[in-house]
Amino acid sequence: NPVVIGLTGGIGSGKSTVAKMFGDLGVHWVDADIVAREVVEPGTPGLEKIAEHFGQEILQEDGSLDRAALRTIVFRDPHEREWLESLLHPTIRDELARQLQPEDYDLPYVLLVSPLLLETDQYTLARKVIVVDVPVETQIERAMERDDNPRDQVERIIAAQMPREHRLERADYVIDNDRPLDQVRDVVRELHLKLQDKDWD
Ligand code: ATP
Repeated sequence: NPVVIGLTGGIGSGKSTVAKMFGDLGVHWVDADIVAREVVEPGTPGLEKIAEHFGQEILQEDGSLDRAALRTIVFRDPHEREWLESLLHPTIRDELARQLQPEDYDLPYVLLVSPLLLETDQYTLARKVIVVDVPVETQIERAMERDDNPRDQVERIIAAQMPREHRLERADYVIDNDRPLDQVRDVVRELHLKLQDKDWD
C-alpha cells in the first residue's frame, strides 16, 4: 500500500492549488472537505443518524442536510457539537482511509489534503506532513478575493484555526506558497521526486 502524506494549511493558504499540482504529476489525492460532505449526503447512515438525533427539521425540503441550521445548533450547544463530532470524525476517517487506497496505482505515496489534519485525529493516517505556508496577510487577501468574503469574517476563521507557528512546528516539509505559481510548481516537482524516491519501509 502507498504511504499517506498529509497536506495541510490554513484557509486560503493554497492546499487545493498545490494538491492539483501533485495531481498533474499523477499523484492520487483525497480532499477531506469533500469526504466530509459525502458522508452526510442523502441516503447515507450519517445523515440518517443526524436526522434521528436532531429531528426532521434539520433536513431541507429536498432531503439534504440543512448545514446552516446544524451550524447554529452546534455553535450554541457544545454538547451537541461533541455528539456530532463523535459521529462524524470516525465516519470521515474511515471513508478517508478507504479512498486513500486507489486501485491500479504504482506510486509509493498518496496525499490526504485536509484543513483539519492536525486539529483532528486525521494526522494519524499520515506518515509525514506537508504544510502549505503563506504569511497571514496573504492568506487573508486570497481568501477574501476567492470567496468574496469580508476581511473580519476571514480573520475570524483564521483565529479559530491552528496558529501558523504551531502548524509549521508540526511540518516535515514546508511549501512556501507566497510566490508565483510557476515557482510553486517547481517546488512541488522537486518534493514529488524526493517522496517518490524515498525508502518508506
Ligand atoms: P481553503 O482551505 O479555504 O479551501 P486552500 O488552502 O485550498 O483554501 P486555494 O483555494 O488553493 O487554498 O487557494 C486560495 C486562493 O489563492 C485561490 O483563489 C487560489 O487561486 C489563490 N492562490 C493559491 N496559490 C497562489 C499563488 N501562489 N499565487 C497567487 N494566487 C494563489
